[in-house]
Amino acid sequence: MEKQELLYVGKAKKVYSTEDPDLCIFEYKDDATAFNGLKKGSFEGKGIINNQMSNFIFKLLEKKGVKTHLVEEISERETLVKKVEIIPLEVIVRNIAAGSFSKRYGVEEGTLFESPTLEYSYKNDDLGDPLINYYHALALKLATKEELDQIADIAFKVNEGLKEIFLNIGIKLVDFKIEVGRTAQGEIVLADEISPDTCRLWDAKTNKKLDKDRFRLDLGEFGDVYREVWGRLTSFYK
Ligand code: UDP
Repeated sequence: MEKQELLYVGKAKKVYSTEDPDLCIFEYKDDATAFNGLKKGSFEGKGIINNQMSNFIFKLLEKKGVKTHLVEEISERETLVKKVEIIPLEVIVRNIAAGSFSKRYGVEEGTLFESPTLEYSYKNDDLGDPLINYYHALALKLATKEELDQIADIAFKVNEGLKEIFLNIGIKLVDFKIEVGRTAQGEIVLADEISPDTCRLWDAKTNKKLDKDRFRLDLGEFGDVYREVWGRLTSFYK
């Protein structure tokens, strides 16, 4: 399958149409952005790691019964995916307080929750992706009730799957963001990517941050920690 028209240029990837109207091609770039695009950076090979890691994780989640947009990895940086209509929500699950949760609610970073939290941001760059609730999402007609219930089920299922995957490689899953989409058949599936760009990952022994916070907070070793996580995954799941 060949790339045709450039449909969308995102912060970390480009999306192309293909000859099949139900399929798209993702092309991962080395770029990183934070704070709604205000901070920019990159490291050589980031797109390759995120492409491969996201596909690897999606395949493990598929085995656990999560439907995804993944069709097949076609090169180091490119993946064929089902074309979906992205639901304009950032669906965030948290197991441990960090980031905007700690800031907003005054909870010390690292506080473990008794049960995971679920929240939604309205994906809208002009508005700065504001936090919204279930009823706001309905009022904004972002999804139906049935779809929102399915999205919550997917989010918690992904959380259970990811927690296990990362625990196996000595990593705590602090929180993560997913995006979901509607296929041509109207099915809700996991879309976009799951990588250290979209998760907070802490070393289980030392709590060292192994994710995009190294870039957001200028902690250094940005590329090193992505390579570390990918190395642990591939050596565990050989
Ligand atoms: N996240 C993301 N994209 C966003 C916002 C958040 O992937 O546009 C991820 C982020 O990496 C973290 C989780 O969602 O794993 C929760 O992020 P938070 O709400 O704490 O926001 P932040 O502190 O990153 O602004």
